[in-house]
Amino acid sequence: MMGQQAGNQERLFYSFNLEEHVPADHLLRGINKFLDLSALRRELAPFYSHTGRPSIDPELMVRMLIVGYCFGIRSERRLCEEVYLNLAYRWFCRLGLEDEVPDHSTFSKNRHGRFRESGAFRHVFETVVQRCMAEGLVGGEGFAVDASVIKADVSRARSIEPGIAKSDPSQATQAVTEYLAALEASGSSIPANVSLTDPEARWTAAPAGPAVFAYSTNYLVDVDAGIIVDVEATPALRSAEVDSARSMLERVEERLRLKPERLIGDTAYGAAPMLGWLVEQKQIEPHVPVWDRSERTDGTLNRGEFRFNATDDRYECPGGKHLTSTGRLTSEGTLLYRASTTDCQSCVLKARCCPNTPSRKIARSIHESSRDVARALTNTDAYRKSRKDRKKVEILFAHLKRILKLDRLRLRGKAGAEDEFLLAATAQNLRRMAKWLVPRTPNVNLAPA
Ligand code: SF4
Repeated sequence: MMGQQAGNQERLFYSFNLEEHVPADHLLRGINKFLDLSALRRELAPFYSHTGRPSIDPELMVRMLIVGYCFGIRSERRLCEEVYLNLAYRWFCRLGLEDEVPDHSTFSKNRHGRFRESGAFRHVFETVVQRCMAEGLVGGEGFAVDASVIKADVSRARSIEPGIAKSDPSQATQAVTEYLAALEASGSSIPANVSLTDPEARWTAAPAGPAVFAYSTNYLVDVDAGIIVDVEATPALRSAEVDSARSMLERVEERLRLKPERLIGDTAYGAAPMLGWLVEQKQIEPHVPVWDRSERTDGTLNRGEFRFNATDDRYECPGGKHLTSTGRLTSEGTLLYRASTTDCQSCVLKARCCPNTPSRKIARSIHESSRDVARALTNTDAYRKSRKDRKKVEILFAHLKRILKLDRLRLRGKAGAEDEFLLAATAQNLRRMAKWLVPRTPNVNLAPA
């Protein structure tokens, strides 16, 4: 017999248990198990007044934000609607059926105020990393570092060339003028275009696409289980990304007592100063391709064919002669080694060695011994394994953009980018814990009311 629903929605009293209506294998159940926000109130306490109207509960704010970042709900208005309507989201946010969900404008205001000042998002991120460590998901032996470009929330049309901004300040905003002055004062490179809406966003050439204003999200990932141990926002600029790798390594050592034995990265992290810092100061193996501009492609002798003698501080050339240091250090941190013009002029190898100059010279970085350490590592099995491990960061970036839908920021400024990247990385770590550590169980909790 065909059944018919009674449609009786006028009942006054219901016996309803929200807990029973959340499926046992719902992702939020796993996340809830590993999320401990008990210290959040203490962290935020100095930023709240003792008088006045009570604010939105900070734990509710963070739980709602985690729902948003875990399920790719990018709009705050939609997030508030979803939490209002979705039973699992309500349960996770510890809201009863009739509890009020914050209005989206109040939600935005709170999110940008005290939370940013107090560093609450970093506190939540680090609490989750510590939980990952306690659960045995962080080995601490190998870390991989990489950056991914995320578009800023600005229009390409609302921008100005720095030259125009300087000659006619009335066309620029005060923020742009101050930003350009700060870049000039610090000796940083000036971009070709500056956004009038968000000057800190960097004009950058995206791969296979037109230039955009963007920030970079920098991940430091433990390669055991792919847990993000640190994250940092920088302008989309190579030098800033490399600096951020150093600051992330310093921070995890100081705050989480984590120091890897090897660091895996691409060629961007293979410049001499970075390798010198890793090997000489931190004693970390650089599993990074050496950034080498000395390779010759015109058939002439490569510097690899010149042997360095550290005892005598000189190179020995294939012709059996010596190249000695001029003792002058260049601005790039290299020492120049020269062969004698007399030796080269009479050498049978001259046409293959230095056809266009009177004698051969070689620039040697002051960090060359660290570059040699990195070069020697490239022939090891551990290095080949590291190349595979590096893919774990790329997978996290793909997940961030495709599943969590963070391919364009919603908040402006570097501080806004930092907030978004911290929350997204927190969501990724929580999802990983929930998926790896919570056994799949049948849906026993979905009981009728
Ligand atoms: S040209 Fe000069 S540097 Fe080159 S192999 Fe001959 S002697 Fe050595």
